[in-house]
Amino acid sequence: MQATVKDPEIAVDVLVLGAGMCGLVIAQELVNAGQKSWLMMDKGRSVGGRMATRRIDGQTFDHGAQFFTARSSKFKQVAEAWLKDGIIKEWTRGFNHNFHLHAHPINDGHPRYIGVGGMNQICRHLASKLPADQVLLNQKIVGIELIRDFLILRSEDGRGVATKSLVLTTPIPQTLELLKSIAGAEDPNTVAAELAKVIYDPCVALMGFFDAEELPLDALPIQSPEAVISFIADNYSKGLTSEKGALTVHLSAEASRGMFTAHDQVIAGYVCHQLKQLFGLKKISMPKSYEIQRWRYAAPQSGLQSTYLDWACGDSSGPSILLAGEAFGGPKIEGAFLSAQAAAQRLLGQI
Ligand SMILES: Cc1cc2nc3c(=O)[nH]c(=O)nc-3n(C[C@H](O)[C@H](O)[C@H](O)COP(=O)(O)OP(=O)(O)OC[C@H]3O[C@@H](n4cnc5c(N)ncnc54)[C@H](O)[C@@H]3O)c2cc1C
Repeated sequence: MQATVKDPEIAVDVLVLGAGMCGLVIAQELVNAGQKSWLMMDKGRSVGGRMATRRIDGQTFDHGAQFFTARSSKFKQVAEAWLKDGIIKEWTRGFNHNFHLHAHPINDGHPRYIGVGGMNQICRHLASKLPADQVLLNQKIVGIELIRDFLILRSEDGRGVATKSLVLTTPIPQTLELLKSIAGAEDPNTVAAELAKVIYDPCVALMGFFDAEELPLDALPIQSPEAVISFIADNYSKGLTSEKGALTVHLSAEASRGMFTAHDQVIAGYVCHQLKQLFGLKKISMPKSYEIQRWRYAAPQSGLQSTYLDWACGDSSGPSILLAGEAFGGPKIEGAFLSAQAAAQRLLGQI
């Protein structure tokens, strides 16, 4: 999009777009390195991105990422520190993979961690260590201009921020949209063509209060990517609600595509019908209250080989753009963290 060129209100050495796990870890690394001139912007009302938690009728539901695993030594260390500080706790060591009424989750030995108080609390904890006035929320960036040696990011409300060094941690389709808006920034390395191959699956999530008597809650959590319902968690078992049966239900990628534009009530009816079929229940009532979240870019089907990417912008003295996020490090929270660490190292070498 062609934004009107106005004088930017703010100029910073580094601008990090996106306050999800990746952006927050990059900002933390900048702080650790003593870098003062940086800003983070996000369109959301709170930090966290896809690590999202919502209150419904006074109870807490995770509706994006449900848990995380730590497999690399770097992320294990971080998880251990969070455990010690009471930021996270172990939730389960495995899932039930089918919908048999009397089946139970299978312990595979791998701890699955959750945020105490919700997954979003992990990101709030990270943000609490950053200067609050350098994290700007409710700022949707709609275009980028290249003016001499600077990039000017324009937000929806017309605000302009100038920077020499930009890090984009947005999901790839959103990143590509923004990169396309930069007139004069060539893509000699055909990076865009590679990025365009990254296809995201959507996810439709229902958070609702089901009748705990009607559902086999002992069978939860269920993770069954092949079924129409790919994931069910009882937020009570996570310690988030005082009521049993406060479920988050994720539809599979295929079912999410089919239901994405359906009315909330239609989706809720569909979820109930599928639960009834899958568990072979006699009866299931509609949840007494519920909300629907539609994630257009829930997870990339396959990630990129590199942990971050440089985007050529202008000549060699021109501004730098780094692309990072879970699509680079692996389509999970740990991947977002690892991509952030690699991108931060690159960034600190540049500025
Ligand atoms: C339904 C669902 C279930 C999941 N389950 C799991 C799980 O169980 N375990 C696991 O490890 N991972 C899971 N994930 C994936 C995990 O949430 C992500 O891998 C991780 O959170 C990505 O972090 P990120 O920082 O790379 O991106 P994001 O969290 O997406 O952060 C990008 C940020 O960019 C902002 N943004 C985008 N466009 C703009 C713009 N134009 N202007 C300003 N800001 C913008 C967004 O608001 C967002 O905050 C799940 C994701 C979803 C959606």
